Amino acid sequence: MIDHLSFSSIKTFLECPKKWYFKYIEKIPIPSNVYMELGKVLHSVFAKYLTDKKQKIHDILSEEISNEHTAFVFENSLKILSNQNVINFLEEIQPSAVEKQFEFSVYNTKIVGFIDCIDQFGTVIDFKITNKFDKESYWLQPLFYLKGCYENKIEINNKFSFVVIPRSSTEKLQVWSVSLSSGEFSRYFDFVLRAVLKDLEFYTKENNFPFTSHFSMCEMCPFNEICPNGKTVLETAEFFGKSVVNTLTEQG
Ligand code: SF4
Repeated sequence: MIDHLSFSSIKTFLECPKKWYFKYIEKIPIPSNVYMELGKVLHSVFAKYLTDKKQKIHDILSEEISNEHTAFVFENSLKILSNQNVINFLEEIQPSAVEKQFEFSVYNTKIVGFIDCIDQFGTVIDFKITNKFDKESYWLQPLFYLKGCYENKIEINNKFSFVVIPRSSTEKLQVWSVSLSSGEFSRYFDFVLRAVLKDLEFYTKENNFPFTSHFSMCEMCPFNEICPNGKTVLETAEFFGKSVVNTLTEQG
């Protein structure tokens, strides 16, 4: 049914099996948005710069940006690349690998991943371009990437860092790191994967992928217009919103 699992597909499945079904089985395309475009442009600029630091980072940006990009992407890329914190961080990295792919098989399932960068100390780095980093929603990523390196015999120091880059020219970037032994990340990864595969097999057999119980996610879900649950949640939110608006009274 599916030929591989990636970190983002497992993350989607854990968030909402129905969303996973829409995205990976029905393959309903998700329209791109300005935040996704900005992330794509900057990831590409960082990768090119880290691969060859003789190039000027702003020259790389000029090559990456085209007329198809919106003013939001253009302005925010410039803002971020004028942030000295970001530039200093990139200058200090002496990468041992950039945009490194890994692939391995476990329980007859192919697992694939794509690492932004591994620094000179062997730390696996993932760039996040955001003003608000929700670390709870990324708990699986270190396990997934450390396990991927281990299985592919990529030399690392068993440390994983999220490098959180704000859309600002002055705010400091943040680095959130975790170190895990190979025993720890292998055990946790194995546990998660087995649970996911078991549920996936069951839902597929039943041809019934359940909705998330975290309804707050439906508001931002790209499938909320076609998903019966999403529609209900949106209608309920609208109902409550209207009730609140109706209780507003004019003050003296
Ligand atoms: S709208 Fe909600 S329940 Fe429906 S797919 Fe999206 S997250 Fe899942």
